[in-house]
Amino acid sequence: KLHNTILELKGNIRVFCRVRPLIPDDSAGNDAVIAYPTSTEALGRGIELLQNGGQKYPFTFDKVFSHDASQESVFVEISQLVQSALDGYKVCIFAYGQTGSGKTYTMMGKADAPEQKGMIPRSLEQIFQTSRTLQAQGWKYKLQASVLEIYNETIRDLLVPNKASGLEISRSENVKQYTIKHDANGNTHVSDLTIIDVCSMKEISLLLERAAQSRTVGKTNMNEQSSRSHFVFTLRIDGVNENTEQQVQGVLNLIDLAGSERLSKSGATGDRLKETQAINKSLSSLSDVIFALAKKEDHVPFRNSKLTYLLLPCLGGDSKTLMFVNISPEPSSASESLCSLRFAARVN
Ligand code: ADP
Ligand code: MG
Repeated sequence: KLHNTILELKGNIRVFCRVRPLIPDDSAGNDAVIAYPTSTEALGRGIELLQNGGQKYPFTFDKVFSHDASQESVFVEISQLVQSALDGYKVCIFAYGQTGSGKTYTMMGKADAPEQKGMIPRSLEQIFQTSRTLQAQGWKYKLQASVLEIYNETIRDLLVPNKASGLEISRSENVKQYTIKHDANGNTHVSDLTIIDVCSMKEISLLLERAAQSRTVGKTNMNEQSSRSHFVFTLRIDGVNENTEQQVQGVLNLIDLAGSERLSKSGATGDRLKETQAINKSLSSLSDVIFALAKKEDHVPFRNSKLTYLLLPCLGGDSKTLMFVNISPEPSSASESLCSLRFAARVN
């Protein structure tokens, strides 16, 4: 009975932990601080953080991917979930973790090497493939994509056509206030947001390129900027079966979250302080919302941040949520890794 209750509480939220390999940029000469316990029970699900002093912190998730897991082997584990968006479910897949832990690698991957493609291109490839297969059964799908980022609690459209002037629009100069509305059918509308009909992987690639370009527009360096904002790719799926007149409406949200690292408040001033507060606020609202949903609480604090409000219809109800918690194996990241693992354990 108790076991049942626990399963029920977990709802539709799954957490996968992925540890990236040590890379040349990492501090050299140290051993990784992540271990994978191999007891049969925990096999593939357990992970242990080792802190200097020999302290061990064990965690269990729905799945743990070690440093040598390929993009393909990770995608295999999410492909069912992606598929369910075609069946009319609302799906959210998040990547959570400190800057440098492998979120963008997991979601986007590397464009130059096909085997290193991330979850976003792989998911879309699968959607296109399956939707073509389903045509034989009378299904017709309309697929629409939008890409936005949330920076300092402000939405920015990443598909805004390039300004002819070539002038850079920095985030602070982006005055447009996009408003979020949810209609009675559970559809989300963001005012003025560019929505593009997509029919092929080629169109998706162009669109992702465009989004990546507008994400890096601005003054500060690209890596720093992209780690301070949430990146949200949304695919709306409208399917109708010409034989049965059955209709489905699914949504697939693929989200590369802002870096979760705790920035010292004391050192930060001005813009930096505002950024830090916005990120802390939205990441903690996200965990509050997921936690409240998992506990089936009456009040779910969706309105506490733009991110949770935007994703409202895709987090509650019979939607499906998966969170990757990305972990760096570097000893110098141990305390941030512990925070990420604890965060993930809380929502899991
Ligand atoms: P984040 O988006 O969390 O800041 P990145 O995805 O940019 O982190 O990853 C940081 C670095 O580690 C990048 O150079 C990336 O290519 C590399 N990396 C991350 N995960 C992996 C992985 N699973 N295999 C190989 N390299 C990885
Ligand atoms: Mg990144």
